[in-house]
Amino acid sequence: MTDRAFLDWPFFDDSHRQLAEKLESWCARELGDGEPADVDAACRDLVRKLGEAGWLRYCVPAAYGGVHEALDVRSLALIRETLARHDGLADFAFAMQGLGSGAIALFGSEAQKQAWLPAVARGEKIAAFALTEPGSGSDAAAIETEAREKKGGYVLNGAKTYISNGGIADFTIVFARTGEAPGAKGLSAFLVESGSPGLDDSERIHAIAPHPLATLRFEDMHLPASALIGERGRGFQQAMATLDVFRTTVGAAALGFARRALDEATRRALTRRLGEGLLADNAITQAKLAEMVLDVETSALLVYRAAWVRDVQGRRNSREAALAKLHATDSAQQVIDKAVQMFGGLGVTRGVPVERLYREIRALRIYEGASEVQKMVIARHHLADYRA
Ligand SMILES: Cc1cc2nc3c(=O)[nH]c(=O)nc-3n(C[C@H](O)[C@H](O)[C@H](O)COP(=O)(O)OP(=O)(O)OC[C@H]3O[C@@H](n4cnc5c(N)ncnc54)[C@H](O)[C@@H]3O)c2cc1C
Repeated sequence: MTDRAFLDWPFFDDSHRQLAEKLESWCARELGDGEPADVDAACRDLVRKLGEAGWLRYCVPAAYGGVHEALDVRSLALIRETLARHDGLADFAFAMQGLGSGAIALFGSEAQKQAWLPAVARGEKIAAFALTEPGSGSDAAAIETEAREKKGGYVLNGAKTYISNGGIADFTIVFARTGEAPGAKGLSAFLVESGSPGLDDSERIHAIAPHPLATLRFEDMHLPASALIGERGRGFQQAMATLDVFRTTVGAAALGFARRALDEATRRALTRRLGEGLLADNAITQAKLAEMVLDVETSALLVYRAAWVRDVQGRRNSREAALAKLHATDSAQQVIDKAVQMFGGLGVTRGVPVERLYREIRALRIYEGASEVQKMVIARHHLADYRA
């Protein structure tokens, strides 16, 4: 029985509690538990289903078919935690609709918002976010993809890699160098429609936990001037502001994976015979369970505190989001590893939930800022406070 007591915490209001309950029943009714043979088809289907049920309305502002006036991070985190606990691919499908359309919601023109956000909320258009390149990942300011101004538009050349939804997305927000200044100050964001001449998204990447992932190549791709998002030269800030909203929710997804692992391990400990009794009667098992409970509770506190700081205090939450993402993803890895250990041989058997979780959690410690990058952010804030 999954712990629901956290919903009573003061970070939430009643609308969050109702959301969590309704989504829980929907997940139990609608989501499967297993890995699909065709991950692209499954992902398209999940986006459509999430859209039809109204859950994607939390990914866009109310004026464009959404639920809240501005994105509510507590709702996004609750949805991601719940989906991840039931089905990692459903969480992925949900998260990418938000991350992929986030720059439009935050910085897009009225025409861009009208054209894309309602369709994202209905699950009719699939979104992607392309920052990473073969030569620049953690150091996003080193982007080399270039958008050169030409004939009232831009010509895009370069490559993006590890792009989630690459190959199935209807549009991608692409960050490219426009050259106003060196480094981070010379980047801009563009809305790139799939199927446009000059875009090749055929090279797929097969990650340990399958989901649509590809390298995108742009060769003399023409973009109209209207593809530019917001101001030229502000692309880096736009990417960081988008990630600022969603980083906390990566922690929430990790929390969902950890809760599922704790549920699975507890059920196993209460049913698996060991000597005269059960695995759960053993003191070493109990110590493991206690550590897992502690990791889950501390992650939940950090995740929902970070979301609350942004939603209710209305300020940037870079420090709190970094703490939440770092702790929730690193500790979920530990929780899941302990669950695998408690399952013995069954724990490393392909397709068993804890084996799947073991693969699913790994990438969360790398994307949207690796754990080491989160440590740098936390230390920077800490030292600045002392110096001040
Ligand atoms: C499954 C998956 C999905 C992804 N989806 C997307 C997507 O949709 N869009 C997108 O743009 N990108 C996406 N990415 C890319 C992801 O954001 C990058 O992998 C990540 O930013 C790390 O970049 P890198 O892989 O180039 O590693 P590098 O930048 O080469 O870093 C390698 C390692 O070095 C360490 N490191 C990095 N910086 C520091 C530091 N300052 N100090 C100490 N150590 C450090 C970390 O351990 C890091 O893992 C995805 C990646 C994965 C695995």
